[in-house]
Amino acid sequence: MRVLLVEDDQMIGDAVAQGLKDESYAVDWVRDGQAALNAVEIQNYDIVLLDLGLPRVDGMAVLRAVRAGDNPVPVLVITARDGVDDRIQGLDSGADDYVLKPFETRELLARMRAVIRRKGGTSSPVLSNGAVTLDPATREASVNGAATRLSGREFALLRALLVRPGAILSRSELEDRIYGWGDEVESNAVEFLIHSLRKKLGSRTIKNVRGVGWMVSREE
Ligand code: CA
Repeated sequence: MRVLLVEDDQMIGDAVAQGLKDESYAVDWVRDGQAALNAVEIQNYDIVLLDLGLPRVDGMAVLRAVRAGDNPVPVLVITARDGVDDRIQGLDSGADDYVLKPFETRELLARMRAVIRRKGGTSSPVLSNGAVTLDPATREASVNGAATRLSGREFALLRALLVRPGAILSRSELEDRIYGWGDEVESNAVEFLIHSLRKKLGSRTIKNVRGVGWMVSREE
């Protein structure tokens, strides 16, 4: 999953970006509102983490512009503890939830998972398709009840496929979900990860569509 982090405070930004990378999110970090608007124009994100007090264009204006452009991306607002008006205004302007500063990264991560799954139209925290299930909180995948722990990038790749069963994702679309700006993309990384996922979960879990990409077949 790819996250846009909009935060001008270096210390908070560093801590959040590191926490997200540790959980295998691909992170793009921008430090002002205009850069945030540019980023959502050119890249699809699974969620935006938006600080409100920002240089150039403030966070509330970013939020309104994103929603005015009919962009449905989930937005989690990061706001000060005393900013009740900001919180109300943020929610009324199209934010999906907020987290209060100072916050612990694990609370932010839990709120992100909740927002992403509500936006995906499900209240269940576990992704599942046919015999395969994936728990984003523990990074555990199971097939017919047999559980395996996945590496960070294996998890990121399987999550990208399981979010939309039946959709074919190309190599570059998968790389997009695994790597943020500035991350070094290893060649053949996608093939390597698919290979190890098939070894752990069974060769039929992920299908190759020759010349196009990979998918998991939609199953009840
Ligand atoms: Ca700020």
